[in-house]
Formats: sequence, structure tokens, C-alpha cells
Amino acid sequence: MLSKIIGSVVGTKNDRELKRMRRVVSKINAREAEIQALSDEQLQQKTAEFKARHQNGESLDALLPEAFAVCREASWRVNGMRHYDVQLIGGITLHEGKIAEMKTGEGKTLMGTLAMYLNAISGKGVHLVTVNDYLAARDAELNRPLFNFLGMTVGVIYSQQPPQEKIDAYQADITYGTNNEYGFDYLRDNMVFSLAEKKQRPLNFCIIDEIDSILIDEARTPLIISGQAEDSSRMYALINTIIPRLKRSKDEEANKNNEDEDFWIDEKNRQIEISEKGYEKIERFLTEVGELGENESLYSPSRLPLLAHVQAAIRAHHVFVKNVHYIVDDGEIIIVDENTGRTMPGRRWSEGLHQAVEAKENVEIQAENQTLATTTFQNYFRLYDKLSGMTGTADTEAAEFKSTYDLDVIVIPTHEPIARIDMDDQIFLTKLGKYKGIIREIKEIQAKGAPVLVGTATIEASEELSYLFDQEGIKHNVLNAKQHEREAEIIAQAGSPKAVTIATNMAGRGTDIILGGNWQSFIEDIDAVSPEEMARLKAEWQVKHDQVVAAGGLHIIGSERHESRRIDNQLRGRAGRQGDPGMSRFFLSLEDDLMRIFAGDRVVNMMRAMGLKEDEAIEHKMVSKSIENAQGKVESRDFDARKNLLKYDDVANEQRKVIYSQRDDLLAEMDLKEAIDVMHHEVYNAMIDQFIPPGSIDDQWNIDGLEDELEDEFKISMPINDWLDEDRRLDEDGLRAKIIQTALERYHTRREQMGEKDAAQLERHLMLQSLDKHWKEHLTQMDQLRKGIHLRGYAQKNPEQEYKRESFELFQMMLGAIKSETVQDLSRVHIPTKEELEALEAQQRENAAQMQMQFEHNDVDNLDSNAGAAQPPAQNRNQAAGAAAAGMTAGAAGANASASAAGENPYAGMHISRNAPCPCGSGLKYKQCHGKI
Ligand code: ADP
Repeated sequence: MLSKIIGSVVGTKNDRELKRMRRVVSKINAREAEIQALSDEQLQQKTAEFKARHQNGESLDALLPEAFAVCREASWRVNGMRHYDVQLIGGITLHEGKIAEMKTGEGKTLMGTLAMYLNAISGKGVHLVTVNDYLAARDAELNRPLFNFLGMTVGVIYSQQPPQEKIDAYQADITYGTNNEYGFDYLRDNMVFSLAEKKQRPLNFCIIDEIDSILIDEARTPLIISGQAEDSSRMYALINTIIPRLKRSKDEEANKNNEDEDFWIDEKNRQIEISEKGYEKIERFLTEVGELGENESLYSPSRLPLLAHVQAAIRAHHVFVKNVHYIVDDGEIIIVDENTGRTMPGRRWSEGLHQAVEAKENVEIQAENQTLATTTFQNYFRLYDKLSGMTGTADTEAAEFKSTYDLDVIVIPTHEPIARIDMDDQIFLTKLGKYKGIIREIKEIQAKGAPVLVGTATIEASEELSYLFDQEGIKHNVLNAKQHEREAEIIAQAGSPKAVTIATNMAGRGTDIILGGNWQSFIEDIDAVSPEEMARLKAEWQVKHDQVVAAGGLHIIGSERHESRRIDNQLRGRAGRQGDPGMSRFFLSLEDDLMRIFAGDRVVNMMRAMGLKEDEAIEHKMVSKSIENAQGKVESRDFDARKNLLKYDDVANEQRKVIYSQRDDLLAEMDLKEAIDVMHHEVYNAMIDQFIPPGSIDDQWNIDGLEDELEDEFKISMPINDWLDEDRRLDEDGLRAKIIQTALERYHTRREQMGEKDAAQLERHLMLQSLDKHWKEHLTQMDQLRKGIHLRGYAQKNPEQEYKRESFELFQMMLGAIKSETVQDLSRVHIPTKEELEALEAQQRENAAQMQMQFEHNDVDNLDSNAGAAQPPAQNRNQAAGAAAAGMTAGAAGANASASAAGENPYAGMHISRNAPCPCGSGLKYKQCHGKI
């Protein structure tokens, strides 16, 4: 409130920023006449001039006004579109490494060209990131004529692209591609065997389109490249048979008291809790089917993975719903993105969840994978020197952009004032009542002659609505994950008079809905269109357009609130583009998931008490408030999940940087001679320690053992006993020095026999092989550590600290292992011939090529599934569930607290009088029940 008052007096930070940028806009505008006077050729020469001036020290900031003016003029000449002043502000925002929030239809595609052109002048590359391949290709083609006119090259990256084509695309001044492709290319670049195979240049500047979608929605899960490991489909099938025999409890209380009930699902946190009885039952079943030995318990450390599989199977049966979270298509489980409603073919949930769903649906269970490389979007995008983005909806997530990416959000005013009317929510008692309300509304809108877009949260809801519309004789199109081929076509006509389109949340996002329909998309299918025909089509469209405008423009009906306000805003934002008229309204019912789980009985009781009929709606502050609260809770749960993912990946990130730069050094053929000498010292010293404890007297020495070990491990025989006999004065230090000296001399001799070049190649090769092997194993270990870390909760330790400490230890051990393996290999290997040396490398490449690689970017739920990897005994279980509730395995202390608080009081944040009866129906006063502090 206070900030609002202050804001209105002195202007908000956003206002001040806009004011500052408007001054730059004036400078750009002041250049316009001079630039307009240039011939095409002179205009084109500007690029070379800018490049030269930049080389000579003129900063991009200094070049901005003139370069933007040039880009704007070129756009006018090439596309007939002159950047609006607000688009210039957007361009400045992007150049400054910030997020430009610009409403849908305001022309972000064109705005982006300004900052791209300016930054491409440096020659270090500009990456434009889109949410899908279609948009990458489309936007690249849209802007290519402009960039080419200005002498800038444009490349597009996509998956399965031929290597040279991809390298060229990255060499271009401007590169378009999806977030996944950039991220996977980065990981793949760190798996190659020579520098020449690397695709990316150093990461310079990037603009992320739909940045909220990419850095918020998709950032809950890491990018993983994995390879096939052993087949364990039998085990999944067996565990699958157990699940129907376990009894689900409706609530936590029953779970504790009732002896028959085996597990409970906390829907709020998507968390599974298994009762003591449940554990016993599962152990018994697993023993029966032979997965668990007679005396083995699920708690045995080696058995923990089994428990994770049981949890995954419970999830598959009780949390994951066919046609909502996934579809079954041609014997395959295909994930449906919760936010966009799009299917994600080829993506798999990890941690055995996908296999569990396959077992449940009785389709072929595919083999499990080993992680080969992994990162998060957060850490990938932070590698860029400068990061920026644009979207229609960022402001609600401004705090997260700031804290995670240090990105400011600038809210850019629209070119034309917004004419869309956003109506209050209509709330019904039942889902059916809500649907009736929607049908009534649609009929009214159609009577006016306006088009309607009905947004749904799930495929199921869109199918239900479609069925009801059919019953009512309402002609409509359905846009959901099942038919994305027709997506663009349907969206193109969604603005035609009386058109009714049902779409899962953001299906078709990125394509504008044009009032009156998109007449140009008609002629795309026709080969040659005469000018007369064109004029006729356009005139026809104009009539329809005017009709729709008169009818109030596109109407948006939301059939359910999404878990995040931002996604609701995106839906509303599809209407009212560029000053178009429009309308939006959400229809809700108390049976909607969000309301059911979060709204509480109080709202239900109140609505019942009002004597509302099924198809009657209310618009009430309290309900709207409680929905917002509910959304706030889900948003912060998701934010916690991302923070948690990041906290854990940050640890891994430091290690990843070390390993990747080591790898780069190896590929760059760095001279290893000295490093290998140092390694000898370390490795031999560590080994000697085992037989000659440092600072010990010679009675404690085990010289025979040492001699054997040297022979075994390094194939080197040293007559140490003889040395000691010959030289009475040889002390511990002297002996160590002599052993290492001997080993080094032997190695140096071998090196000379091999010849400098071959030796260097062998060293590089062996070390690279060892580094890759141990890094992969390390990734698996880190993964297991992360999954198991919350067990530390019951030793009263902070899991995050423990994770840091232990992963550091693991990393040290891994570095040690790489060194000793390299030294060992080098001393054991027989001196290779040229052919053998070449074969070694070929072998390495072949192994890599044979690995069946998969590229995963997991769904959020799978992260939750990590959470229950292993549960501690009953008395500690709630505590661990609280930690896990934050969305990932191990809740850090902070996340733990917030999640368990939310878990204990579902009414937190609702304004319930402390003396009122608790909404849970316990009969106690609120302050004595859920409101207890
Ligand atoms: P957004 O991505 O912001 O939703 P688009 O980039 O799809 O918007 O642009 C919406 C429409 O506005 C497109 O048809 C585009 O050609 C048009 N447009 C954008 N900027 C201009 C401009 N400066 N002059 C004329 N038309 C423009």
C-alpha cells in the first residue's frame, strides 16, 4: 500500500526507467531524417562502418541511437514496418540485459531485431531463444530479409542437424534456436573428442523469447543427456502388480490410525507417505515376488532404490492421470506439458517414473539410462556475458528473475491503449453448473457475432467441453496436445465471426489471433493469386473484421484457473492485441482442483448457505481472494522447487566448470608433461602412505607390501628392501623421494621410447578417457546423494550443508581417482604402435557413437518423485515429507520450514477469525485447530 502511495507521488522505478529510455528514443528519432536520406547502398554500408568504429573502441552503447535508427529504416524499406517508439524502448531494454514485458501482439518479433542487430556488430554472436522449433524457424525467416539487407548472416539450429550445418549456424552473426537445443549443444560440446567438433562459440549475448516460459516454467527441471544402461523391465512389471494391493487412505489422520490403510497422498505437495503397515506389506510382497531377500529390509542401503521404484509406481497409479499428464499413443507414453497442454514426444520422466507409467498402462517398458551430462537452464543461461528476454507476462515473477538471474523487468507500455475488458470471475457450485454457465455465455457471444476462445487447464476438460458443445449444437474447433499439426491453421481462423475454439492453456502460443480471421493464410495454399483475387479476399476479410470489432472483439473464456496467475494472464492476453477490443472472464467451480484443494470448506459452506442453484454463479471477493491465495501458494511451492533445484545444481555447477575446463585444456592439446609429473608425486605419495604411515618409525613399515603393491598397480618392481639394506641412513623422506624418482625415471624413459608426439597423444587420450568415465560415475553418485540426502534430516543435520560437504568430498575423490588411474594406465600400458594409438581414439569415438543417447528435460512431477526416494521410519516421516514437499528430494532448512507450514495450515493467508470454527470441520475453534501458531 505504502509503496503504491509513494509510487504515485514520485513515480515508480519502472516509470523512471521508461523516462530515461525515452530520452534515448528522442536521440534515435533525431537521427531519422538523416538516415532516411541515405540510399539503400549507403544504408547497408552503415554495418561495416559500425563494425569498424566498434573495433576502434566505440562502445555498443554509444552506437545504439544511430544503429537503432539504421535498423528501423532498413525494416521500413525491407518489410514496410517501422519500429514504434515503444518497440525502441523494448530494444533498449534488451540491449541493457533486462526483460521487456510487452503485451501479446505488440510486435516482440520486430522489437528483438534492434538489439540483435546492435549486438551482432561486435561479431561475437547473438542467440535468439524460442520455445519451439517452429517459432525459431518462423522468426528467423521473418527477420532474415532485414538482417541480410544489413549484411548480417542468420542461422537456425535444430535437433539432428548435420554437424557442419550446425557449426555454420553458430558461426552466423545471429542464431535462432530453442532453449533445449542450445542447452544440449552446450552439454554435447563437452563430450566431444576434439575442439573442431565443438559447435558453440563462447556464449555472448542472448535474447530469450517467452522468457517466463523458459526460465520459470521449464526451469523446474534439469537438462539431462543419458545413455542406456541395463534392462530392468521385469522389476517394474513386478512392482506394478503390488500397487493395486495397497490401500490408499483419504487423509493423513486415517493413515495414522487405521491399520488397513497403507499410504496417503498429500495432493497439495504431490507427496506420498507410506504408513508403517504399508512398509511391512510392501516388504512382504517384494519378498513374495523375489525382489527382496528373506532377511532384507527396504531400509538396507542397497535396497533404497527399490523403495524409490515402489514410490514411483504409486505415483504412476494414483497421481498421474491418463489424458491429463500423459497420453498413450501407439504403445508409448507421451508426456503432456502441464502448462502448455502440448505433448512432448521423446521426453521421459526420470527416476523410473516413466517405466512405472509404462507398466501401469501395460505397454513396453523401455530400458533405464545413465546420466552422461546434465545442467539446468538457470546455470546454462547464466553462462552468457549478457542475458535478456521478452514476454507478455513477467511482472508477477519479477522477484524471481531478479534473485535467480539478476534480471530486471521493464513493463513497456502498449503502442495503443488496451481496450480489452477483464470481467470478474463467475463461481459455480459444481463443474456441471460451470459448464452450463459457459455454454450460456457462448451462445450470447455468438449471437453478437463475436469469436470465442475457451481456455482449459487439461485435455480432459477440453474433451468434456467439446462433448457438451456438440450436444448443444455449438460448432467449434478443439486445439490440444493431440492435434498440434492443425494448430496454426485453427488459430489462424480463431478470430473469424462466431468462431468457437477450445484450447488447452497455451496451445498455439506465439501465433496471433487476428480479428476477422487471417485471410493471408488462405492464399498460402493457392499457387498463384491474381491481384484482383487478393483484393477481393482482403475486402471480404475487412467486412468480417469490422463485424467482429463491432461485436466486441475476441472473447476469452477461462474454464478453470491455472495454478499460476501468470498463465491466466497469458490466456487473457490473447485478446485485445494492438488496441483491439476484447473481453475476458474466468468460470470456476468449487469442484475445480485448485478450489477443492486450497479453497477450504468455508467457501463451500458459504455458497451452500446462500442457497445457490447449480447453474447460478456468484462473483464474490472472498472467493476471488482465496483463489489468489491458493495460486500464491502454488507459485511459491514451484519457486521453492526451482530454488532448490538451483541450490543443488549450483554445487554441481562449480564442479562441472572445473571438469569442462580441464577437458578443454586436454582437447586444446595442452602440454601435460609437467602435470603428469606432479600426478606421479601425488599418486605415489598416497600409495606409500598406506605402507609407510607418515612420521612413523621403521618398525611400522610394510616394505614387502609396498613392493607387491607397486608391482600390482604399476607393474614396476623396486628392490626397496635391498635399498634399505644398502643404505642405513635412508629415512622416510629419502625413501619416498627415491621411490618417486625411480618411477618418474622409468616413465620418462618410456616416454622417450614412444617419442614426444605419441607420448603426448597417449597421455591426453588416457586422461580424457579416465576423466569422462569418472565424471559420469560422479554424476550418478551425486544424483544418489541428492536423493538420499534428506535422510540426514533425522540426524539433525542440515541437508544442504551435508550435500555440499559430501559432494565436495566425492569430487575430491573423483579427482584423485582420475589421477591415479591416469598414472596407473600410463605405467601399465605397453608402448603402443602408431596403429594402436589411432585405434584407441577410434574406439573411444565408436563407444560414444554406440551409446544410445537420450535427451531429457523432465517434467516437474518427476522432481517431486525424487522426493520420496526413501522414507525414514515412521516417527520421522512427517518431518522428511515436509522437507521433500518443497519439490525436491532434500528440502533445505528454509524450504523445509515453509513447506511444512503450508502443509500444516491449508487456510494460512485466509482471513479467518481466530475464534471462528475451524474450516476443516473438526468442531474446534480455528485458533485451537489449524490456526494454532
Ligand atoms: P507478439 O510476439 O508481441 O505477440 P508479434 O511479433 O507476433 O507480436 O506481432 C504482432 C503483429 O504486429 C504482427 O503481425 C506484426 O507484423 C505486427 N507489427 C509489429 N510491429 C509492427 C510495426 N512497427 N508496424 C506494423 N506492424 C507491426
